[in-house]
Amino acid sequence: MLGEAFKRLDLSPEIESAVLDLGFETPTEIQERVIPLLLEGADVIGQAQTGTGKTAAFGIPLVEGIDEEKRYPQALVLAPTRELAMQIAEQLRALTRYIPRIIVVTLYGGAGYGRQLDDLQEGAQVVVGTPGRVIDHIQRGTLKLDRIDYLVLDEADRMLDMGFLPDVERILRRTPRSRQTALFSATVSTVIRIISRRYMRNAKLVQVKAQHATVEEADQVYYEVADRDKVDGLLSLIQRDPPERAMLFRRTKIGVDKLVSSMRRHGLAAESIHGDMSQQIRERVMNQFREGKITYLVATDVAARGLDIPEVSHVFNFDIPEDMDSYVHRIGRTARAGRTGTAVTFVGEWDSDKLPALQKVAGQRLQRQVLPLYER
Ligand code: ADP
Ligand code: MG
Repeated sequence: MLGEAFKRLDLSPEIESAVLDLGFETPTEIQERVIPLLLEGADVIGQAQTGTGKTAAFGIPLVEGIDEEKRYPQALVLAPTRELAMQIAEQLRALTRYIPRIIVVTLYGGAGYGRQLDDLQEGAQVVVGTPGRVIDHIQRGTLKLDRIDYLVLDEADRMLDMGFLPDVERILRRTPRSRQTALFSATVSTVIRIISRRYMRNAKLVQVKAQHATVEEADQVYYEVADRDKVDGLLSLIQRDPPERAMLFRRTKIGVDKLVSSMRRHGLAAESIHGDMSQQIRERVMNQFREGKITYLVATDVAARGLDIPEVSHVFNFDIPEDMDSYVHRIGRTARAGRTGTAVTFVGEWDSDKLPALQKVAGQRLQRQVLPLYER
C-alpha cells in the first residue's frame, strides 16, 4: 500500500501505481521536500547523500509534467556517463509504465543511431542523454530542444565542472529561457552554486542535512598496506568476508585493467569498466554485474558515478581517490536505500598524508584495521 506521505504528494493515479510497483512505500526526505517544489514549477538544487532516491525526486515531477498527447521533447535529463543515462531512463520508463504514450529516449555515444532516431521520430517526450550525443543529435537536426520546459542535470557538480561545462552550456542555449531547471548531486560545491545561478531563477536550495557526507550504514575501514602487498591484502579480505557483490576503484584505466588481470589469475569473476572500452562491452559488463554473473567490478571514478546496484555489499578503494569528493561518490555505491555495506580503503605507503583529508570528507571515523597478512 502506498503510504500517507506519498498520497499527500497528490500524484496522478497512473504514477501512484507505478511508484507502488517500484516498491516505494514512503518518500525519502529529499523526495518529500523536493517533489512539491518541482511540481509547483520552482527551480531546485537538490543535495542529499548517495542512494537516497534523487532520481525519483526529479523523475516523478518530470513525468507528471509531460503532456503525452504532444509528440515532441518536453523534458531533458543530462548525465555524465552512458551507464547512468541508461539507468535514469530505466527508472523514468518504470514511472511511466501506466502512461504508455510517453516515450523515453536514451541518447548516448558508442551506440547506433537507429533506435535513438526511431524513438525521436515516434515523438519521444522525454530525453535522457550524455552531453556528447545530445549535441550530436542537435547538429544533425534530429533533436529539437526549443520546447523543453523541464531540464535536469544529474550529478550536477560533475556536469558543471570544466570537463563538461562547455558542452552543457551549448545544450542549455538551445532550450527556452523559461524552462524549469533542477540540479541534483550528493556533493554540491560553492562554485557549482555560483555557476548554477547563471542558469536558474530563484533556485531553491534543498539540502538534506546528514550528519556526515557519507552514509552511516556504510562501515568505513582503512588498512595501511605497502603497494606490493595490495593484491594479497585484497585477496585475504575477500576470503575472510566474501562480498555478495563488490565495486573496486582505481585512479587510472591502466590500474583498473591490471587489477582485473590479477584478480582473474586468482580465480575471481572480475571485469573492468572504463572509458576506453567499446560501448557494447561496457553494456555487457554492466548487465552481467547487475545480474550477479560478475561479482567484482573494477572501475575508475568517472565510470561509476551514480550507479545504483543495490546488491553491492563492498566497495574497495584500491587507491585513494584523486579528489576527495570522489571518495563520497565511490563509497556511495554501497549501503544504498537503507541497506548496509562495507567500504574498505587501502592507504599505500605514499598516501598516508592524504588520510586526514579523507577522514574529513567522510565526516566520520574511518576505522583503522590491520590486514591479516600483517597480523602476528
Ligand atoms: P541517488 O541518486 O540519490 O544516489 P537513486 O535514485 O539511484 O539514489 O536511488 C537509490 C535506490 O533507492 C534505487 O534502487 C531506488 O529504486 C530506491 N528508492 C528510491 N526512492 C525510494 C523510496 N521512496 N523508497 C524505497 N526505495 C527507493
Ligand atoms: Mg543519482
